[in-house]
Amino acid sequence: MLSEIISSIFKKITYAALRVGRNPEEIKLIAVTKSQPVDKIIEAADLGLRIFGENRVQEAKEKIERIKEFNIEWHMIGHLQTNKVREAIKLFTLIHSLDSERLAIAIDKEAEKLNKVQRVLIQVKLSHEESKYGVEETELERLLQICNNLKNIKVEGLMTIPPYFEKPEDVRPYFRKLRQIRDFLLERYPYLKELSMGMSHDFEVAIEEGATMVRIGTALLGQRTK
Ligand SMILES: *Cc1c(COP(=O)(O)O)cnc(C)c1O
Repeated sequence: MLSEIISSIFKKITYAALRVGRNPEEIKLIAVTKSQPVDKIIEAADLGLRIFGENRVQEAKEKIERIKEFNIEWHMIGHLQTNKVREAIKLFTLIHSLDSERLAIAIDKEAEKLNKVQRVLIQVKLSHEESKYGVEETELERLLQICNNLKNIKVEGLMTIPPYFEKPEDVRPYFRKLRQIRDFLLERYPYLKELSMGMSHDFEVAIEEGATMVRIGTALLGQRTK
């Protein structure tokens, strides 16, 4: 039952945080609803989940229109094309996947037109095997400086999608690396509070390494149907 799965995930989040002396309340659960049917999402909302992550603007738009009655916060977790920026700004509270200067400028421009300050995380690419999107560590500071000069974009932290490993323990160095990069930047960019890292099979390790947002799909809502 979904209610049992949800409470077991929250327990795992709590224990992982306590193992390393963190306050479990600083960790947000993003329920990844991509390719999940609307009924399932409504069931999750009924059970109290309030932050949902989608990776495609069009799919998200259709769902959001059908799930209006709940006060849900929608997050964009997938790569965002510049031609979808305007729609994305209308739909999403937080975009986890800022991955280029061009996209930053597009978000700022459209957000200004819509009178919004768009909250974003910068997606960082830590290895060549991982997702093809994300900025390299060496380009990160340049993008932060560009964003500092844009009024309608607000960077709140970093996100990464590490390569897949059978054993969650093998992912730990990637999570640790993102945390170290963030800690190094914190002095000059004190607003980098969030670390979005950890998915279904490795979120506990991510929390031990400092994740403040875990993005969980299949472990929570089951296999995706599309
Ligand atoms: C699909 C997806 C997730 C969730 O993956 P699961 O393994 O189902 O938990 C998390 N983050 C991103 C960016 C995704 O695209």
